[in-house]
Amino acid sequence: MYLLNTVHRRISGAPIVVERSCSGVKEIFPICRKQVTGRLPNTDVVKLSQSARIVVPLNLALDDQILGWAVNRAIYRITFIFSCIVSSAFSGQVVAWGADAHRASGEIAWQLLEVPVQTEVKRLLKLKGETTLAEAGTWADRMRSNDAYDWVGPLHYINLPVAWDSYDKSRDCPEHGCILDAIKVNRAKLTDKSLSDIERAEALLFLVHFVEDIHQPMHTGLREDRGGNDVMVEFFGEATNLHALWDTHLPRRFINDWKAFATEEVDRLDRREVLRTAAGEPELWLQESHRLAHMNAYTDTSVLGEAYYDKNREVIALRLRQGGIRLAAVLNEALR
Ligand SMILES: [Zn+2]
Repeated sequence: MYLLNTVHRRISGAPIVVERSCSGVKEIFPICRKQVTGRLPNTDVVKLSQSARIVVPLNLALDDQILGWAVNRAIYRITFIFSCIVSSAFSGQVVAWGADAHRASGEIAWQLLEVPVQTEVKRLLKLKGETTLAEAGTWADRMRSNDAYDWVGPLHYINLPVAWDSYDKSRDCPEHGCILDAIKVNRAKLTDKSLSDIERAEALLFLVHFVEDIHQPMHTGLREDRGGNDVMVEFFGEATNLHALWDTHLPRRFINDWKAFATEEVDRLDRREVLRTAAGEPELWLQESHRLAHMNAYTDTSVLGEAYYDKNREVIALRLRQGGIRLAAVLNEALR
C-alpha cells in the first residue's frame, strides 16, 4: 500500500478510486509487468475520475527501484490526465468514502442481513456482475468512468449552510438532485416488484452506496468549499484536503483490514444498539452528518495531527457502523 499512499500524497486533491483489478497492466506498466509475471492478480488500480486508470502491482513496493519508476510513471499519467479533464471533473465535488470505508460498512450490513435477504441481495447483485455487498458499495464510484452515469455526480452529496435548521427540498436539493432524494428514490425502486430485476439491481447498487456516503460528514459540507474539497490541510505532515481526509486518510489510519474491522464491530453490537440505530429515516442520518461536519470536521487550523485524529477516530468508526446497521435495516425491509 506504500505505493498507493505515495501516489495519493503527490497528487493530493485529485479524486482517486482504488479498486482490485489486473486489467490494463500490459499497456500501462510494460516494464513492471515483466517483473511481476505470475503475480498480476495482486494489483490495485488507481483511477482518476473519468479516464485515468493506473494499475499498481502491490508487489512493486518491495523493490525501491521499480517502485520509484512506477510512482513517477503513475504521477506523470495522473498529472497528464488531470490537466486534460480539469474542467469537467473538478467542476463537481470529489465524492466518496474511500473504497475500504465502503467495504467496511457494506460488510457490517451483510453480516446483519436476514438470511433470505442475503440470498435476494446476492441474486440481484449477480445480475450486475457483482458478487459481494461489500464490494458492491464501490460500484457507484467505479461508474464514474462511464459517461452514461455522469448524471449521478450530484447524488453523492448534499450542500448545506452552517446554520441549517431542517431539510427543505426546494432549497437543499437542487434540480440535479442530492443524496437524500437519491436514497429515497432508489429505496422505492428496490421495493417495487413491478420493476424489472435489472432495474431493481441497479437501484440496489445506488442505494448501498448512497446510504454509506450520507454517513460521511463531509458529504454534507458547504457549497462554497465543495464539501471540504477546497479546504487544504496537512495531516501528520501529509498534504490533503478536508474531504479526502475524512474519505480516506482518517479511516485508513486505523482500518488495515476492512473485513476484520467489520467483523469486530458486529461482534461488539448488542441487539438494543442495532434496534436503536436502525430506527429513523435518512433525514436523521443527514442531520447527524451535518452536525459532525461542523462540530468535528471543519476546524480553525489547517495543520492536523494526533489531537484531531484522537477526536475523530471513534466518530469515523461510529459512522461506518451506523451506515452498516442502517443499510441492513433498509435492505431487510425492502427485500424480505
Ligand atoms: Zn459516493
